Amino acid sequence: MGQRFDAVDVIRTKRDGGELSLEQINWVIGAYARGDVADEQMSALAMAIYLRGMTKTEIRQWTRAMVNSGERMDFSSLSQHTVDKHSTGGVGDKITLPLVPLVATFGVAVPQLSGRGLGHTGGTLDKLESIPGWNASLTNDEVLAQLRDVGGVICAAGSGLAPADKKLYALRDVTGTVDSIPLIASSIMSKKIAEGTSSLVLDVKVGSGAFMRSIPDAQKLAKTMVELGTTAGVTTRALLTDMSAPLGYTVGNALEVREAVEVLAGGGPRDVVELTVGLATEMLECAGVTGVDVGAALKDGRAMDTWKTMIRAQGGDPDAALPVAKEKTYIRAEKSGYITEMDALRVGYASWRLGAGRAYQGAPIMATAGIEINKGVGEAIEAGEPLFTLHTDEPERFERAIDMLDGSTTIDANAAQSRASVILDRVR
Ligand code: URA
Repeated sequence: MGQRFDAVDVIRTKRDGGELSLEQINWVIGAYARGDVADEQMSALAMAIYLRGMTKTEIRQWTRAMVNSGERMDFSSLSQHTVDKHSTGGVGDKITLPLVPLVATFGVAVPQLSGRGLGHTGGTLDKLESIPGWNASLTNDEVLAQLRDVGGVICAAGSGLAPADKKLYALRDVTGTVDSIPLIASSIMSKKIAEGTSSLVLDVKVGSGAFMRSIPDAQKLAKTMVELGTTAGVTTRALLTDMSAPLGYTVGNALEVREAVEVLAGGGPRDVVELTVGLATEMLECAGVTGVDVGAALKDGRAMDTWKTMIRAQGGDPDAALPVAKEKTYIRAEKSGYITEMDALRVGYASWRLGAGRAYQGAPIMATAGIEINKGVGEAIEAGEPLFTLHTDEPERFERAIDMLDGSTTIDANAAQSRASVILDRVR
């Protein structure tokens, strides 16, 4: 019989700047997962944590308690090394799609248990569901079989993994407590530790479209997560990557799948290819695979073959045409010059307003909706040329998306600076 605490005492401890004890943490997470601590009490505690922060010990214990709130997957029966990656969330971030088959091509197992989008950031499962027939829900046995046979799997994380985080994340989303380093680090790492991967590479986004707006904050988040993973026995590394502008030229579900397939066919935007190859190289190194030409597997079709096998294994038709929006409209450049800035957050929200994202959990999304970026940062544009192409099935959505994009992009007559490397730093 565990010791009982009073939720109000736990909230007061943190509100007044104290350190929560192991027993308080274990009790409050367990009781919240069971429904014995009310949402309003957990909201107050999340806000106290947001304002007061947590010590390293508290973060470690909070993460462990969330792992212990549910089941753990076990990949020990596999002969391959398992390695996963997790992104803290961005705009146009379709990297998982080419990355998983690329890494699996080198004989490493990649269990990518993903989520759906909420707010302005897209979700990998929503993107893949635009492929006709593709199924996101696999049993644990099916995940293991696909890892053994194909090497890569992207599917929905079962509801049994870190259920306390599922409840808490939904609550944070509506209480202004998402962008807190202890809460983000424990949320992400509890899911990844419960997933049972042997190694993990984190893609920590920095910039207007990310939870972390500054490099020092992103470094702090990355270091916190790397320490949590390492302490739990997971080889963990992080890359800090630029999210001041969207990744690639597409934002929105089917549009992003199309661009990911271009990368798998050996083409695609420079930033998407750079990040895919950079993350794959880190993941392979964690798995002990070095001295291989990662980019060559994109150019010669090996990663594409693995992609097609992965999609077919989950009922999808990788050769089927992707759905296309019924309506399109253009936003044209008001002047000639070079694009120096494009605010990822505004582009993310505009895509969401076109129907690509959901307003609440469980809401339907439009596979076809989103934004094509006709010219990106560093490129020249002439006045009157299309800057964005907006896609949706419901044209009444155009106006609010256009409002959101107004002022999102800076065009400068003189400056011609192409986007620098998207990889800003590494944390090990
Ligand atoms: N992704 C998560 O899973 N949790 C967070 O808190 C933020 C991003």
